[in-house]
Amino acid sequence: IPIEKIRNFSIIAHVDHGKSTLADRLLEHTGAVVPNSGHNQILDKLQVERERGITVKAQTASLLYTYRNETYLLNLIDTPGHVDFSNEVARSLSACQGVILLVDSNDGVQAQTVANFYLAFGNDLVIVPVLNKIDLKNANPDRVCRQLESLFDINPNEVLKVSAKLGIGIDEMLEAIVTRLPPPNVNRDAPFRALLFDSSYDKYRGVLSLISVNDGSLKIGDTIQSCHTQSTYEIKSISLLTPNEKPVNTITAGQIGLIGCNMRTSKEAHIGDTIHLASESVDALPGFQPSRPMVFAGIYPFDQSQHVHLRSAIEKLVLNDSAVSVDIDSSPALGQGWRLGFLGLLHLEVFSQRLQQEYEAEPIITAPSVIYKVKLKRTKQTIKDGTEEILINNPAVWPEVYKIEECFEPMVIGTIITPDKYLGAVMALCMERRGLQKNAVNIDNDRVMLQYDLPLCEIVVDFHDTLKTITSGFASFDYEDSGYQSSNLVKMSILLNGVCVEELSTIVHLSKAQTMAKKLTLKLKEIIPRQMIHIAIQASIGGKVLARQDIKAYRKDVTQKLYGGDVTRRKKLLAQQAAGKKKMRSVANISLPRETFIDVLKK
Ligand code: GDP
Ligand code: MG
Repeated sequence: IPIEKIRNFSIIAHVDHGKSTLADRLLEHTGAVVPNSGHNQILDKLQVERERGITVKAQTASLLYTYRNETYLLNLIDTPGHVDFSNEVARSLSACQGVILLVDSNDGVQAQTVANFYLAFGNDLVIVPVLNKIDLKNANPDRVCRQLESLFDINPNEVLKVSAKLGIGIDEMLEAIVTRLPPPNVNRDAPFRALLFDSSYDKYRGVLSLISVNDGSLKIGDTIQSCHTQSTYEIKSISLLTPNEKPVNTITAGQIGLIGCNMRTSKEAHIGDTIHLASESVDALPGFQPSRPMVFAGIYPFDQSQHVHLRSAIEKLVLNDSAVSVDIDSSPALGQGWRLGFLGLLHLEVFSQRLQQEYEAEPIITAPSVIYKVKLKRTKQTIKDGTEEILINNPAVWPEVYKIEECFEPMVIGTIITPDKYLGAVMALCMERRGLQKNAVNIDNDRVMLQYDLPLCEIVVDFHDTLKTITSGFASFDYEDSGYQSSNLVKMSILLNGVCVEELSTIVHLSKAQTMAKKLTLKLKEIIPRQMIHIAIQASIGGKVLARQDIKAYRKDVTQKLYGGDVTRRKKLLAQQAAGKKKMRSVANISLPRETFIDVLKK
């Protein structure tokens, strides 16, 4: 296919606005898959994606489309819609010339629509605005057009209207892709050069890299070299995604494909790297910022006998998710484990769900923490070690108070779009989370867009869920990184029967210490079941106890009420009790449910 007949594009949208459904329709309309073959959301391959209805990893498909008797190659890249994964969106966009900005015509513009628009706009991509779900009874396309006009200066005449569900307007949209988007700026006569923009790990074939070929061509048996590491590899396999993998012998400029080349770990496949033939040197293509973990948590095997299994499960999963960072960690209470870094809390949850579903591993996950910066007081030692400023992603290693000169915490700029009747509740929530309002604009008669400076640690755990709850699901949220800010932080320790459990300690802002202490102790009282011994739960800062709760000892065994009657019934109950116990982990002689560490921070 000639280069002028190639279009690379992505669909970007707020979560649930219909990207995956629209991708399915595109596959059907271009004959890539048979309509109604019972496969919904063909590009959402992971089980967690199907269950949670979100797209985690971007997937790609190459489609053939005939317009005015000419055949076009359309490379579609599906992107995730959740805030945690906005780096995956940025990554996908680097291989595109245009995007479909999809907006639900009932929900209208949402926080991620805004974030995604600016990502595409900032990358100089052609934006095709498309309203979805026009079949809905409450659809109000005119209103959404006005929102697009007032926020992004989009001419209402350019806006297309479709129903991904019913397949209405799909051909017009394909035409718009062909006529409005430019072909990629590539050169078939230059030496081979390609952008590596994603990688995954296959049990049988090892690391597979997704590449977008900019110049020249590549064939099986060629030796490639990475601009980033200078390492060389022999090409073992090449396939196009139609959307199922179709093995081919060569791939040329303008195409997107999957290559296999004996890389042992996906660490070797640097996202954003440029690859070329080892025999010819080229300039690197503009890459992009690799993702940076924002939220850290300890992961420990439930008991040490599962250590090897958990290690291999984590290794395999990380091969598929280069955004996760892994460091070895150990804790007095939980033994040997790891400290993993994630893009956000949802990313952490998806990761642990995949550990369970794909590798049957049920680890203990500790409360998540962000990366704090601590400036230590100058001493001979700190000057000698160069440790005046340290980064801390684990409250367990927080320095003692007398050593600290100043603390800093990571901040974000949060964007919230909400119907104005919830404005008061939303502003109260942001205030409670130590937010500072920067901006408020009406995007139409009854919707407001708010912008806040917020500490990252205040939003990672349950901000999004709380926002959804207080606005009956109508508000949306997105955020971007905005550096560090000096802050009055202290470490709150949790003591169980006088023993400090480091894994439960958290960093809090001094102004919230008292309420946090009360909240944490109450929450633990709720989570920890009654046991044979009395349990005292205390929250303390620098040795000073701020709150305490007690759990009374539990003396009666579960069968007492049967007065020693029916033997089989008694056995069954004892077995149940034992099974219930199995999920517990003993810390400081107290049995804690597996989820304690992560649940304690949730409301
Ligand atoms: P994504 O999160 O953007 O990938 O959204 P999905 O494709 O998973 O769609 C979210 C929900 O909206 C699903 O329940 C779809 O069935 C529904 N949906 C998608 N497109 C349409 C449409 O055109 N009309 C209606 N009524 N529902 C739609
Ligand atoms: Mg989806």
